[in-house]
Amino acid sequence: MRMKVIGIKLDGRRWRLRKRKLGRDRVVGQCWSDGVIEVDCRLSQKRKLRTLLHELFHALDGDLSETCCEQRSKAFADAIWAEGYREMRMDAEFRRPRR
Ligand SMILES: [Zn+2]
Repeated sequence: MRMKVIGIKLDGRRWRLRKRKLGRDRVVGQCWSDGVIEVDCRLSQKRKLRTLLHELFHALDGDLSETCCEQRSKAFADAIWAEGYREMRMDAEFRRPRR
C-alpha cells in the first residue's frame, strides 16, 4: 500500500505529514527540520492524535520545550477527543470513507 502524505501550511511554511512504522527509531513521532512530520501508524487513535499535535507544536516553534509540547498536545487531544472527533479510515484508492 502506498504511503499517504498530507501537505499542510503552518505560518507560511510547508509541511508534509505521514504515518509509518517508527519502531526502529525508538520514537512515536518525529518533526524533521526539512519539513516532514511523522507519526507511528500503529498507535491507538487517541495516541496518534496526541502525537501529531505534539509534533505540530514542535513545527510551529522549534524552541518549545518537550514539557510544553507534551502539556499542550495532551490538553488539545483530550478536548478534541471529548468532542467526539475520531480518525476515519479512508479507502486509499478512492479517497472515500470506508464502509
Ligand atoms: Zn517532542
